[in-house]
Amino acid sequence: MIDKILSALQLEPAVIIKKKYGKNPEVSAYKFIEALVTSNNVYEAVPKLGLSRSTLDRAIKEWLPPLEGKTWSVYLKSLAGLKSCSSCKQDKPLDEFSFRAHNKSLQKGGDCRDCRKKYREENKEHLKDLKSKWLDNGGRQLNLDNQRRNKDIVYSRNAQYRANKIGATPPWADHKAIAEFYRNCPVGYEVDHIFPLQGELLCGLHTHDNLQYLTVAANRSKGNKIYPLTHDLKPYIITT
Ligand SMILES: [Zn+2]
Repeated sequence: MIDKILSALQLEPAVIIKKKYGKNPEVSAYKFIEALVTSNNVYEAVPKLGLSRSTLDRAIKEWLPPLEGKTWSVYLKSLAGLKSCSSCKQDKPLDEFSFRAHNKSLQKGGDCRDCRKKYREENKEHLKDLKSKWLDNGGRQLNLDNQRRNKDIVYSRNAQYRANKIGATPPWADHKAIAEFYRNCPVGYEVDHIFPLQGELLCGLHTHDNLQYLTVAANRSKGNKIYPLTHDLKPYIITT
């Protein structure tokens, strides 16, 4: 791991960080990084290197990039793509952590996937109990609400993606109003573009005033046609 960190910092292991000076011993880049990675804070690294606190602070300033996150140990490990698991204390690649813990690579804590799996298996009954208690206390409704909300967000993002891809989102589109429209979609209905983004005769835009709610069945049969033909839209439709 030390070698990985050194190469991420483009430091040769044998480079001398601090020359022997009086009582201060010689410190190589390898020793320097090793002391920081194995310490919870800079104070702990001081006796490992035999330097004074102020000398160590100067060396850090001179040889390392600005600290990101809270501790050198966590930050230096993240440079090597590693994080230490708070349960098994092993240093593991970031992708062996859940997505959330993975994204918080500059923060301490988080259990690796193996430890979480082990915990789930060992506490199966307890977790089952917790879940059923939660569901009894109104959690079921919360669960359904969340599922519904997440679904609307996904639909809204997918539509945005498709529209952007074909250049159908004008710069003045009101993204808040569009998202609001998707969020308010009644149960059993889908959001539809009145003028389809890729119509046969003309192409509509991904804007909130081009959106309508249709029942699922109506939306499926509509395809890329313009429907329903409201009275004031008719003059704009060219028939051949
Ligand atoms: Zn672990």
